[in-house]
Amino acid sequence: MDFHFAPDQEAFREEVRAFIEDHASPAESRRSGAGYALRAHERTLEFQKGMAERKWLTLAWPQEYGGLEASHWQQMVLNEEMAYQRAPSAQNMGTMWVGPALMLVGTPEQRTEHLKNIATAADDSWWCTLYSEPGAGSDLASLQTRAVAEGDEYVLNGQKIWTSGAHFADWGWLAARTDPDAPKHRGITMFLLDMKSPGVSVRPLINMGDEHGFNEVYFEDVRVPKANVVGELNRGWYHLAVALDFERSSIAGFSGSRRTVEEDLALAKRDAGHLDRNPSVRREFADRMIEIEVGTALAYRIVHLQTKGIIANYEASAAKLFSSELSQRIALTGTHLLGMYSLLRPEDDHAPLEGSVGQSYLSAVSSTIGGGTSEVQRNIIATRGLGLPRG
Ligand SMILES: Cc1cc2nc3c(=O)[nH]c(=O)nc-3n(C[C@H](O)[C@H](O)[C@H](O)COP(=O)(O)OP(=O)(O)OC[C@H]3O[C@@H](n4cnc5c(N)ncnc54)[C@H](O)[C@@H]3O)c2cc1C
Repeated sequence: MDFHFAPDQEAFREEVRAFIEDHASPAESRRSGAGYALRAHERTLEFQKGMAERKWLTLAWPQEYGGLEASHWQQMVLNEEMAYQRAPSAQNMGTMWVGPALMLVGTPEQRTEHLKNIATAADDSWWCTLYSEPGAGSDLASLQTRAVAEGDEYVLNGQKIWTSGAHFADWGWLAARTDPDAPKHRGITMFLLDMKSPGVSVRPLINMGDEHGFNEVYFEDVRVPKANVVGELNRGWYHLAVALDFERSSIAGFSGSRRTVEEDLALAKRDAGHLDRNPSVRREFADRMIEIEVGTALAYRIVHLQTKGIIANYEASAAKLFSSELSQRIALTGTHLLGMYSLLRPEDDHAPLEGSVGQSYLSAVSSTIGGGTSEVQRNIIATRGLGLPRG
């Protein structure tokens, strides 16, 4: 088996590397790769405009929707390099799942209105995902936000929670209940929600790493045009499930993990004191590097399926599960290497690696919850992957 990329793909990798050097600050730290902090968002928007000029935001999309119809392997090269260089996120919810979902089930008008905006990083094209509610997370089909038909519109009432990036989103990809009498999976519809609509309010939630990434979103008599229904009425659960497959197929995480372990290793070699104090961490590094190779193979399997036109399902869950749990093990190994030094805050001059180890230890906790918990991923692998009956 040969996992090497072809010469033209490696040449493209060099082009991407040069682009990042020109357009992103070389001092992008491990911390700045994280989440939706406002400072990172401003930088991301600017960076994405440069990407969009090259059609790199939607590299593998059909040309008619603003892509280059590049191969999924070329997309992988791009994603890997972006993650490794810690470029401001190359992708967003619009490019990763709203756009692909609209290509599958959107109306021609919805595609015309939104796909080009997403591909060109237009000013009003930032999306958030409105699924989870206080009483509906893993059991998402229990969601209670109501959309009631009234003339040419639906009237929306309810609440969402943990909505990443809602504080700067222009549009929301929203699941709401349209038939409360139907079995719970059959009464949900997907909507495109203009976040500027009267009656939408966004309230911040600060996580334990002191970052503002997600929010609560409330709807009070919000009017949504019927033209913004996506796909079939009351079949939203099935559209949402495919969008979740796209979300979990995010494939570049292992490349970013590799960079993190390499930086920890470089520090361990540079400053022998850390290894002297914590000798067993050598074996942990060996394990982490093996796991990164395994994870990369899981990601490459997803790309292989994409090249065959197959939407990865339990395979995406396996990669998501492995990647998120690995990010926690990597953060833990970092704390074992640094010991008490990992407690130093980023603003402390003595903090090794800019205080990123302690920070990533905190932020990695949420990685096994967002996008569906590890237990949910294991249930998917057990039932759809292994054919086991539901427990
Ligand atoms: C960083 C982050 C970003 C997020 N961004 C978004 C977003 O943009 N949009 C959005 O809609 N949501 C978002 N979420 C919400 C996320 O999808 C939910 O938190 C997640 O699905 C879990 O739901 P819950 O919090 O209600 O936990 P619960 O579903 O209440 O789960 C509690 C515990 O019970 C376990 N559990 C539940 N059911 C089962 C089962 N059947 N078998 C075994 N164990 C089970 C879970 O694994 C978990 O350990 C985000 C969450 C995080 C952490």
